[in-house]
Amino acid sequence: MKPKSLNLFRKVLGIFLSVILVATLMPSMSVKVKAAIGTGKLFVAGVDITTQSNKTITTSTTGVTSGTAVLDESGTRPVLKLNNFQYKGDGYSDGRNYYGLFVASGTNIDIELTNDNKLELNDHTTGTQPGNYGVNLNNSTTISGTGSLEVKTGASYSNKGLYFLSGATISGVSITVNVGDAPNGSTGILSGNTLTIQNSTIKSTAGKSTNSTSSGIDCTKLIVENSIIESHGNRGSESYGITSPNSYSISDSSTIIATADAATVYSLGTTLFEISRGSLVASGYTQAVYRPVKNTIKGVGWTNPEGTTGKTTIDVSETARELDSSLKKVKFPGHDHSLTYSASSAVITATCANTDGECDLTDNKVDLTIVKPARTTYGGT
Ligand SMILES: [Zn+2]
Repeated sequence: MKPKSLNLFRKVLGIFLSVILVATLMPSMSVKVKAAIGTGKLFVAGVDITTQSNKTITTSTTGVTSGTAVLDESGTRPVLKLNNFQYKGDGYSDGRNYYGLFVASGTNIDIELTNDNKLELNDHTTGTQPGNYGVNLNNSTTISGTGSLEVKTGASYSNKGLYFLSGATISGVSITVNVGDAPNGSTGILSGNTLTIQNSTIKSTAGKSTNSTSSGIDCTKLIVENSIIESHGNRGSESYGITSPNSYSISDSSTIIATADAATVYSLGTTLFEISRGSLVASGYTQAVYRPVKNTIKGVGWTNPEGTTGKTTIDVSETARELDSSLKKVKFPGHDHSLTYSASSAVITATCANTDGECDLTDNKVDLTIVKPARTTYGGT
């Protein structure tokens, strides 16, 4: 039989070890604390949503004509849910600028859209050169859902429709941005980091800017996947349809239209880095494209922004190179099928009438043979 003192020692040691074990495991087991957004961090339609009953804004708020904005903090990241939310007013003011949706620096939220939503800001042209920001986020965000968002701003000194300082992912939604004229710069969508647009339809139109830049979309890096983008820079000292100096890729079945109005210094349709699929049309009064292009599909170019003079073919290039700077409009792919259909017995033939010599169909046509199915009536045997 062992001495009692040793048993006691073992017991104490056992307890001691279990305490150590628990203490060691604790960091990895620690429950993530859901950080609720504090007051003064999230303003929607001019109102601090964190102070509202159920963190919900409804038509009882001035300027809100329908729907709800709800701050949902039940998940790992807070989500602002807009459902048929329609607002027009002055927005939130930080003493200088005005915001339709304002998210304070350091605050992480995502945005979910259901049905048709709209944020509209009034003109702000008096005072210390105020700016209008339709949506302003400093931290990266994801905008997703099944609905749409329209952002509209009136005239101010500096207009931004959607402003993402740290980048954003826009997924599965439809967004229309129309920003008003602003002498110090008018930008539809401005992103300080990568802007990823997937499975979405985006239409962004900037206002005129007498002293500065008018850009439809301005971001450091643009990734477009299976989306339709129409982006327009207005008149200004500089005008850009889409500018994305670092890189820019178009994949899948995306369609991009980037156009720039006449400008006193530069009018450039787009930066374009790489296109292998999808389609792109770009035009500018100085130049259609102002960065090296790698295109694995053929394009065409014209020497005027309207696309009526000096038509020329742009050959495939596996390495990025500058396009001829005289081109003020470009289009990839250069060829549009012009299809008519005929049928004989079980074969349907599509014939392309565009005889520009660039059709990728063999002899400008393709056949589809219909095979009779085993069952010809619904639910039949
Ligand atoms: Zn064709």
